[in-house]
Amino acid sequence: MMRGPRLVLLGKQGAGKGTQALRLSEHYGTAHLSTGDLFRAAARAGTQAGLSAQRYMDVGELVPDEIVIGVVEELFADTKLVERGFVLDGFPRTLHQAEELDRVLGATPLDLVVNLDVPTEIALVRLAGRRVCEDCGTTYHVDLPPAVPWICDVCGGKVVQRDDDTESAILRRLELYERETLPIIQFYRRQQRLVVVAGNGPGAEVFERLVAAVDTFRELCGEP
Ligand code: AMP
Repeated sequence: MMRGPRLVLLGKQGAGKGTQALRLSEHYGTAHLSTGDLFRAAARAGTQAGLSAQRYMDVGELVPDEIVIGVVEELFADTKLVERGFVLDGFPRTLHQAEELDRVLGATPLDLVVNLDVPTEIALVRLAGRRVCEDCGTTYHVDLPPAVPWICDVCGGKVVQRDDDTESAILRRLELYERETLPIIQFYRRQQRLVVVAGNGPGAEVFERLVAAVDTFRELCGEP
């Protein structure tokens, strides 16, 4: 029996990263770790860290590395979680975060980093119409709403537009993605851990491509 893979899913905002990370974690029985979801939950709960993160999130800026790395380090203190495997979604977002992730994982390193690649024009359309469940994070699109208008199919929560899905915050996040996240792609390419998967087309097809990429890579590496 193969253990659950330790994956990072990279991709610009609107690439479908959150949806696919959730599906992958369900498929492999691993944890779905989204730093954005963690910060949003902390902000809703009104914790100090959550409220300071929210100031950056609302305007589309990155939360400072030391805050994000602290949160991730706390998560991975749970060795069972590392054993079970995980899909990281939204982390790392800077080269420093990528280096720190290697340090935190130590002897149980990442198996694979998948870059979910979509053209910016498609990402922009997806982001402008994106709606998200406040409670469980399930995403919808104005063209594909929940069965009962704006009540989440999964948990019955309220489905809303994210505060940072405004035009100016979206443009800022895409600009930051180019600047901060592209060097990470190079970093993982040099480690020979990177695969690129096309993120265009229906979600179910993208998911099949992702699973095929992960399974092929793991077979090649002879994972236990
Ligand atoms: P996401 O849900 O992944 O789009 O993240 C939403 C927002 O949370 C981002 O625009 C950032 O403000 C913040 N955030 C999430 N993950 C990180 C990270 N790894 N580094 C810095 N900021 C982050």
